[in-house]
Amino acid sequence: MHYEPVNACILLLGQIDGAELVTVEDLAAEGDLHPVQAAMVAHHGSQCGFCTPGIVMSLFALYHEGRQPLGRDAINDALAGNLCRCTGYRPIVDAALDACSRPPNDTFSANGEARAKALVELADGQDILIDGEDRFFAAPASEAPLAALYERHPDATVVAGCTDVGLWITKGMKELDKIIWLGRVAELGLIEENTERLVIGATVTHAQAYPALARIDPDLGEIMRRFGSVQVRASGTIGGSIANGSPIGDLAPAFIALGAELDLRQGDESRTIPLESFFIAYRQQDRAPGEYVRRVGVPKLKANETFRAYKVSKRFDEDISAVLGAFRLTLDGRRITAARVAFGGMAGIPKRAAETEQALVGLSLDDPSSWGEALAATRRDYQPLDDHRASAAYRGTVARNLLFKALSETASGQTLATRIVGRRETLEAAE
Ligand SMILES: Cc1cc2nc3c(=O)[nH]c(=O)nc-3n(C[C@H](O)[C@H](O)[C@H](O)COP(=O)(O)OP(=O)(O)OC[C@H]3O[C@@H](n4cnc5c(N)ncnc54)[C@H](O)[C@@H]3O)c2cc1C
Repeated sequence: MHYEPVNACILLLGQIDGAELVTVEDLAAEGDLHPVQAAMVAHHGSQCGFCTPGIVMSLFALYHEGRQPLGRDAINDALAGNLCRCTGYRPIVDAALDACSRPPNDTFSANGEARAKALVELADGQDILIDGEDRFFAAPASEAPLAALYERHPDATVVAGCTDVGLWITKGMKELDKIIWLGRVAELGLIEENTERLVIGATVTHAQAYPALARIDPDLGEIMRRFGSVQVRASGTIGGSIANGSPIGDLAPAFIALGAELDLRQGDESRTIPLESFFIAYRQQDRAPGEYVRRVGVPKLKANETFRAYKVSKRFDEDISAVLGAFRLTLDGRRITAARVAFGGMAGIPKRAAETEQALVGLSLDDPSSWGEALAATRRDYQPLDDHRASAAYRGTVARNLLFKALSETASGQTLATRIVGRRETLEAAE
């Protein structure tokens, strides 16, 4: 059994098909508080009580991870999607340390086998279609019926984790008549890996992809660790973060810098394109009606390649990037022979920096005085967004400085003091 905290406000009922739903009301058994609830009481982790149910459910999931040893950092990560504004986090973290530092021992672990068996019996591998032709919730169980259904109903809304689509409903007040949920399509949930590539199915969640991405490079792990919160990572998918075409999404620029390719399918036809060519203009992608994202292939780094990526946002967790810069450099000794540079937040789409890439070729890592032209080229490559998250001028300066940071770190082999978390610590957190 694997418990994950999810945000109920952006989860469609159909998405919990085949899963056990546990809410805070389910935790106390025969009048006894759950160990997590008891620890929250003992450590005075609750004051006004408003945020407490969410915190308790996040800690319940952490409790069932049975992680040992459990440090404060891991607890902070687990709590990231919850805001407490009166108790303060110290007593909550103390409660977590107390309750979650040993193997789980509650009614859920005691009858885990029976629960798992009941869930396995529900997994019938059947396509689901609720209602009719004009209004439906469909959950195909494999790719062939998905492709056929979406081709027949190109006006349907494809839903993966629903962390974006949920907001169209709760904030945009949209009525979605036709929904095709991808969560049951077995083929889309696979991660395949060989020595050269990582291939991630469209419905693989951020939580599932996190360790494999961190193994490509710790900076990718850092991006995943700071992607929303545990709840968002448990629902949100890799495919959704690409298909939504967001100019400020975190993964697209990082994947573009790594040279990723995207697989798409419409009916019986499949095609593979470089990820960067998927993004055409603001909220416009190279995706035909009825065509869906199947998977993304991310090349691993070769021995002579280095990678750096930095997310700049106002908060550490649960925040959208103002700028995200990603840099893959190919080296011949100390000289740069090729570069792939991509930024998010700098244009209407996640975009490569063509002039910057050109200017980087031939530069020596040992001669910072020669880097000026490449740094200046970042200004010519972009007309940055100007919005409430950051001004265009700020974004322009940040982009230039992130390139300088990437070059400095690559040259010295050290991490700079302006990093919030070091590369080694990031890798450890992912493992
Ligand atoms: C609280 C919160 C925090 C967030 N933090 C971050 C963050 O730190 N960084 C970041 O980049 N994003 C963030 N997001 C945005 C969002 O979570 C991600 O973009 C997420 O990856 C979207 O994936 P999803 O599976 O939930 O997509 P969904 O909401 O299911 O779908 C998003 C869009 O993609 C389409 N779609 C989904 N899958 C496919 C497919 N396979 N083929 C074709 N179309 C498809 C849908 O039709 C829809 O248009 C955050 C969102 C929330 C609510």
